Amino acid sequence: MEKLNISLPRAVEKAITCLENCGFQAYIVGGCVRNTLLELPVNDWDMTTSATPEEMKACFKDFRTIETGIQHGTLTVLIDGIPLEITTFRNDGEYLDNRHPVGVTFSRDIGEDLCRRDFTVNAMAYHPKRGLVDLFDGQADLTKKRISCVGDPEKRFYEDGLRILRALRFAAVLDFSIAPETADAVHSCRHLLKNIAAERIREEFCKLICGVGAVRILREYHDVIGVFLPELEKCYGFAQNSKYHCYDVFEHTMEALLEAPPHLITRLAVLLHDIGKPLCYTEDETGGHFKGHGDAGVEIVKDVMKRLRFDNKTAARVTILVDYHDREIPATEKSVKRLMNKMSDEDISILMEVKRCDRLAHAKEYSEPSEAIFEIPRIVERLREENACLSLKDLKVGGEDLIAMGIPKGKEIGRILNALLEQVLDGELPNEREALMDAAQDLQGA
Ligand code: ATP
Ligand code: MG
Repeated sequence: MEKLNISLPRAVEKAITCLENCGFQAYIVGGCVRNTLLELPVNDWDMTTSATPEEMKACFKDFRTIETGIQHGTLTVLIDGIPLEITTFRNDGEYLDNRHPVGVTFSRDIGEDLCRRDFTVNAMAYHPKRGLVDLFDGQADLTKKRISCVGDPEKRFYEDGLRILRALRFAAVLDFSIAPETADAVHSCRHLLKNIAAERIREEFCKLICGVGAVRILREYHDVIGVFLPELEKCYGFAQNSKYHCYDVFEHTMEALLEAPPHLITRLAVLLHDIGKPLCYTEDETGGHFKGHGDAGVEIVKDVMKRLRFDNKTAARVTILVDYHDREIPATEKSVKRLMNKMSDEDISILMEVKRCDRLAHAKEYSEPSEAIFEIPRIVERLREENACLSLKDLKVGGEDLIAMGIPKGKEIGRILNALLEQVLDGELPNEREALMDAAQDLQGA
């Protein structure tokens, strides 16, 4: 055991003292130890203890506790308003389905708890007086910047297939490599990801693609990603035979992703923007073409988002970004107003970002982003400042006005209002009550 000084939040210190005063051992463990040693911000201060959940509840009787996962030994304790997840030392026993341990047994031995954890860098515990408990050389792997399984990689992946994707996630986020034996098992066990719940895959995959090392990992482990995203694997090595391109579809996508900020919607849209291409390839004397790949991409993206159980909002945003990625949008008020009618200002900025990344990943002579990409967000801003009319609710006449004019209730009202909006969006009609009423008169029965 090593002496080392990690400064702990007051609430964590209090929790450790409280458990020790009751005669139990307590440590911080996992991600918080790893990130502190790497001098990275800590997401949550997870703790592990020799106390069973019932014993913990007795210790923390003066605090609010939440039964987060009692059967797995996890209790959340609120100390000074900070929720601390505390889990009993645990031995996961046998795994029979590549997902869940059959019987969790509680243990009084920190060593047993650490050896059930996935990677050496995630299997360190720390106690303010006893120092670091590092039974699997996690520190050495931190120094070498690499991910290694605790124990035999294949065996660990057969216990829980999600660990395969977690290895890629940590390597991408921490910008680490994967140790050779672990890397071999990642490839050879990849089929085990088929048994894993879509939600768990999605969570890890989203973190992976937002990592600094995402592109490096996607390139090296495309076969693994292909298990749950076969459409991306189809892009791998798919030649474009076009003067506009110097990369195959997958490499083009990776080059574009290298330009994308670490923002989930943006990265998803860039990753999937050309996913429809392999379905749309045609060739003539001028070379390869991918006509309609945006539309084909939309269908695939809808499938992918459903398969990975993304929420509806994220799915809709990524879908429309892929839909629009290859459409030409002139930097005119008219076209920008139409775009604002279809998506939020934030998504328009993201669309421009997607277009910029896409462009930069073209052959050198065609890689200059168009001026429109930078001009369009400025037009959006100006239209917002002017309170421009963008949708039916901004129109200075409503259904009641038309009814008062004697137009019958029903479909006709909607048709006229939409026609008025079209004219206002196109700048053919001012958004003024009188002009709109006159125009409505003309449209009636038209
Ligand atoms: P982050 O900072 O991203 O939250 P983390 O290391 O805390 O990173 P979690 O997914 O929150 O990652 O898991 C917490 C800890 O639980 C890990 O550090 C690891 O020790 C253990 N762990 C989590 N999932 C698994 C798993 N599938 N198999 C084995 N151990 C796991
Ligand atoms: Mg965590």
